[in-house]
Amino acid sequence: MIALILASGAIGFVGLVIFRTLTYPNKQIKPSAGQSFDTSFIQENEDRLVSNLQQVVRFNTTSRERGDMNYEEILKVHQFIQQAFPTIHSSPLVKREVINQYSLLYTVEGSEPSLKPYILCAHMDVVPVEEDSWDVPPFEGRLVDGFIYGRGTLDDKHSLLGILEALEFLLQRGEKPVRPIILAFGHDEEVEGRDGAKEIAAVLKDRGIQAEFLIDEGLTVTDGLVPGMSNLVALVGVAEKGYLNLELSVDSAPTGHASMPPKETNIGILSQAVSRLETNPFPSMFGKGPERAMFEFLGAEIIFPLKMVIANFWLFSPIFEWIMSRKPSTNAFLRTTTALTVFKGGIKRNVLPPSATANINFRIHPAQTVQDVIDYVKKVVNDDRIKLKTIAAHEPSHISPYSESSLGFKSIAQCVKQVFPGASVSPSVLIANTDTKWYPDITANRYRFFPVVTDASDINRIHGHNERISIGHYLEMVQFYYLLMKHADNHS
Ligand SMILES: [Zn+2]
Repeated sequence: MIALILASGAIGFVGLVIFRTLTYPNKQIKPSAGQSFDTSFIQENEDRLVSNLQQVVRFNTTSRERGDMNYEEILKVHQFIQQAFPTIHSSPLVKREVINQYSLLYTVEGSEPSLKPYILCAHMDVVPVEEDSWDVPPFEGRLVDGFIYGRGTLDDKHSLLGILEALEFLLQRGEKPVRPIILAFGHDEEVEGRDGAKEIAAVLKDRGIQAEFLIDEGLTVTDGLVPGMSNLVALVGVAEKGYLNLELSVDSAPTGHASMPPKETNIGILSQAVSRLETNPFPSMFGKGPERAMFEFLGAEIIFPLKMVIANFWLFSPIFEWIMSRKPSTNAFLRTTTALTVFKGGIKRNVLPPSATANINFRIHPAQTVQDVIDYVKKVVNDDRIKLKTIAAHEPSHISPYSESSLGFKSIAQCVKQVFPGASVSPSVLIANTDTKWYPDITANRYRFFPVVTDASDINRIHGHNERISIGHYLEMVQFYYLLMKHADNHS
């Protein structure tokens, strides 16, 4: 009898799991009905679009560190933009401003000035190159087999020019935007953006501008990068992780000659502390940030065993978290990460070390704060001899909305559905940082997204060697930004 009850219970349980799997709702935002816009004129202008992108790559706008950049080349980019986009620069609807000498701010008047503007961001600078490791010159914009090569073609000159081309087309075609548009182009994003985007945000704040949403560089339309998904998946960064460089130091142990050592040295004390931090990772935050929603958005389209897991997170989430924790790339989504990056101690081979210091780089999950991380470090280290000093810190971003009622997210999703038919769209977390960090007072709806298809082979090219974009993918970007300008006007 008991066996029978247990057996029927088990069957019911399995039945529930299967039922939930089969009836799992599709959470994708639907393509907009009857709102497909013609973009054939973009392909027709392929030669001009390619030559403009090649040209902007030729300006070597490398940022090395704050204040150490090629300012002359940034100014050449300004000149080039003015000459390459004549309609934008002659339109009575457009106001162009130079902010802090090198950054650009464009304001495009809308026919409904009472509507909040939206902001499209990009940056003009690039990271340094190791020229010897490139197969083609990094600042030539060379065209090889349908790819435009050069530093900035994936970060972020494709986006800078893509946005400008889209606006140029819109104005050329006599289409007046309904909602005002702001274009914000910083010149020092690669070295934190303190002189560029930060200044632009301060100007907007002074003017009392509140934006409907903002889109900046970030995640991409991934091809073969999301396990279990055979179609393209557009990952939209609705949050980015925070950052903390914490210095741990100790100088309490006696120093002197190494022949009569005490039980513990400063190096030993600090080694134990950092070892405790490495062996006690931060807890998983699965479900507290957007990482759970990322999979739920894909649940209806993902392959079967994963679909069953996602439809039954109530049962399977501990196993799922365990699997994600095993790989550094997926673990980073789950929790605040701990990376011991610098360790210094000792002055001479036969002298006890007068002090020891270590730097730990934490990337903070959006559901935690800098203070949470410091509290956790104190608790795990549990040693008053260790002194903590914050070297650099910024809080994780707020999590931007990703529902159907959010104009920014919805517009991105609908444009993706038109430009990349069959693609899925999902909210996600950006592990790197962008200029969006300077805009929290301007809008709570900040999205980090590049409308460009990338596969595994592209990942190492960003900030790496042989950075390139295919002509087809670049034209899709221009198409996306043009459609975005149409969609953002079609919803109130
Ligand atoms: Zn960038």
